[in-house]
Amino acid sequence: MNTEPLFLTDAYLRDATGKVVSHTPEGGIVVDQTNFYATGGGQPGDSGQITWQGGAMKIATCIKGEGALILVPAEPTALPAVGTQVTQTLDWERRHRMMRVHTLLHLLSVVIPLPVTGGAIAADKGRLDFMMETPPEDKAAIETELNRLIEANFAVTDAWITAAELDANPDLVKTMSVKPPTGAGIVRLVRIGDETTQIDLQPCGGTHIERTGEIGAIRLGKIEKKGKINRRVYVHLAD
Ligand SMILES: [Zn+2]
Repeated sequence: MNTEPLFLTDAYLRDATGKVVSHTPEGGIVVDQTNFYATGGGQPGDSGQITWQGGAMKIATCIKGEGALILVPAEPTALPAVGTQVTQTLDWERRHRMMRVHTLLHLLSVVIPLPVTGGAIAADKGRLDFMMETPPEDKAAIETELNRLIEANFAVTDAWITAAELDANPDLVKTMSVKPPTGAGIVRLVRIGDETTQIDLQPCGGTHIERTGEIGAIRLGKIEKKGKINRRVYVHLAD
């Protein structure tokens, strides 16, 4: 049973219905569709709660199983029975902050146009690891450029292409450590800007805000040396 990932087509879906299709041996709940992002690509799974007739349960996170997305209860309590219709409600404040940080990392990869070897997202900050042998000379210029891209309030949109089209355009993939999601032979491309002023275009299965202005106030954090040729660059939400 594949779970339909509703967050891929609408990242702003705070509530969604779903049907329990099975329980995992570890006590997780498999649903037929979910608005909960499943841990992956450096972004933690969503937390929140599910409710059903006569019951409610806190959800700690969502993880990927075999073709399925699994809601992980925060506490070991009785699970809703298979077949139960549930309402899934995100911890929206946390998710929305991660959408801001995630989209900010796309902009960071534009401002520092070097190959990315890893990354991580939290509700208050994120980081990318770049192949960068020498530290940037002007840190303030990086922050200024990030703020310019945020204030320009570019649209963030997506489009789907086939895996074959992606293979024909390998330059689209910036992140060497994260394979783009290619489920069912199609890949989601995320674009920042429009066709005339395109800021960024790359395959991504994460959750994004609709316009860069929604990122709000930010600051550039530490830049750490990680190994011989890598540097880790942190960005923070300032509120
Ligand atoms: Zn993304």
